[in-house]
Amino acid sequence: MEQQLEVYLSSLHDDPLEAAASMTGSLASMEAEQYAYLAEFLHDCAEDPALSAFDGGERRFAYGGAGTPAIPEFAVTQVQVQLGLSPYAAQRLVADVMSLTHRLPGVLAAMADGQVQAWRARMVATATRDLPLADVARVQEVLLEGVRGGVPLVARITRKRLQQVLDQVEMTVLPEGVAEEIEHWLAARDVTIRPGERGTSVLSGTVSTADGARLTHRLTQVADWWVELGDTRTRSVLRSVALGMLADPGMLDNLYARVCAHRAGQDLLDLDLSDVAPSDLDPLAPAPSGHPLPATVLYVHHEPDTTERKPGGCWSLDGHGALSADQAAELVGHSHVTLKPVIDLAAPIQCPGYVASPRLKEHLALMNAGLCTFPYCDQPATGGDYDHRQPYPRGPTTKTNGHLLCRRHHRAKTFARWRVQSVTTGVWLWTSPTGDHYVVTAGTTTPLVP
Ligand SMILES: [Zn+2]
Repeated sequence: MEQQLEVYLSSLHDDPLEAAASMTGSLASMEAEQYAYLAEFLHDCAEDPALSAFDGGERRFAYGGAGTPAIPEFAVTQVQVQLGLSPYAAQRLVADVMSLTHRLPGVLAAMADGQVQAWRARMVATATRDLPLADVARVQEVLLEGVRGGVPLVARITRKRLQQVLDQVEMTVLPEGVAEEIEHWLAARDVTIRPGERGTSVLSGTVSTADGARLTHRLTQVADWWVELGDTRTRSVLRSVALGMLADPGMLDNLYARVCAHRAGQDLLDLDLSDVAPSDLDPLAPAPSGHPLPATVLYVHHEPDTTERKPGGCWSLDGHGALSADQAAELVGHSHVTLKPVIDLAAPIQCPGYVASPRLKEHLALMNAGLCTFPYCDQPATGGDYDHRQPYPRGPTTKTNGHLLCRRHHRAKTFARWRVQSVTTGVWLWTSPTGDHYVVTAGTTTPLVP
């Protein structure tokens, strides 16, 4: 059996990975065919007068949203049983199939062509379910915008980025609905701490986006203080230590005082700080001069009005995704916020030495939607490594000679023969070890078909 499969695969492709990848498109086409059959069955049910006269008054719902036919509820049950799904999964499938058929026919056609995977099409269908028809049409138009080679936008971005785009659309078109949803999730916030493996506790919970952002900044800041004082524990450990210190703000004040003393050259005590237990710090020590949080950066993305009814413009918080206006206001009210002016990404920047300046890194991050430039990577560029394409000093530290990579992909490039060129500012052409090409720009990835 295994041999037969091998012979079959080698007759199609020399490379088994290539064979596996080529089936992605076929799978999408097959699933589109399955959706077409399901739609046919559901339409028959919707039009069957016998079903509506069903004893007990069968109910009907437009599961797919505005503009989709009302489907008798027991038709969903039939789908559920025949396909071996849970009731909830069947209802979601019926809703997505109806929505794709009637509201997003272009996305469905791209799926049938093998260009858009089913999970992407369904994500769009689910996220746009409550939108009016006209707005869905506009969303579809944007998501299907192709480039040379014809790969639509919806197939060129990561799951996280697609969710962000859909969130932004919803916030712009249906702000009231989003506000209700936010309220619902905020009302369910909770934090629990339970015993973990020996000597540890496990903490889990949910906080508001704004609190999450500020907490992230604070933990990073406190971990940095420990490092500054010579602590050699890993950053992961130090962030955990920092969280524990929030139990007693006095300890934070004390630590900050020592950092200030260290910066002023007074910290010459020969202490091994990794051994300093929290109890060694005087919790009653007065706060020196406060220890302000590092600024939170909000980027305002102004996008053209998609509906010609509502003003455009969306907030996004670096690393946290789309924010509603209220969430942005909460952040502004509670934090030390830096609002960034519109950045001219075309402006050239050259740093004198090997190290990329924060400004250069910021520009590079914004040119790829804040993401690592490796194909399909969804890791944040902030905190990533500046990679010189032409090694320094032969290659300068500039926008065209560099880009931001997450640690994993920096290693892939250094050790696994992935190569990158900058076609023009903000557009990167990657070549895999096997010679495949991918264009990455503005957070999108487009494979180049040979
Ligand atoms: Zn990466």
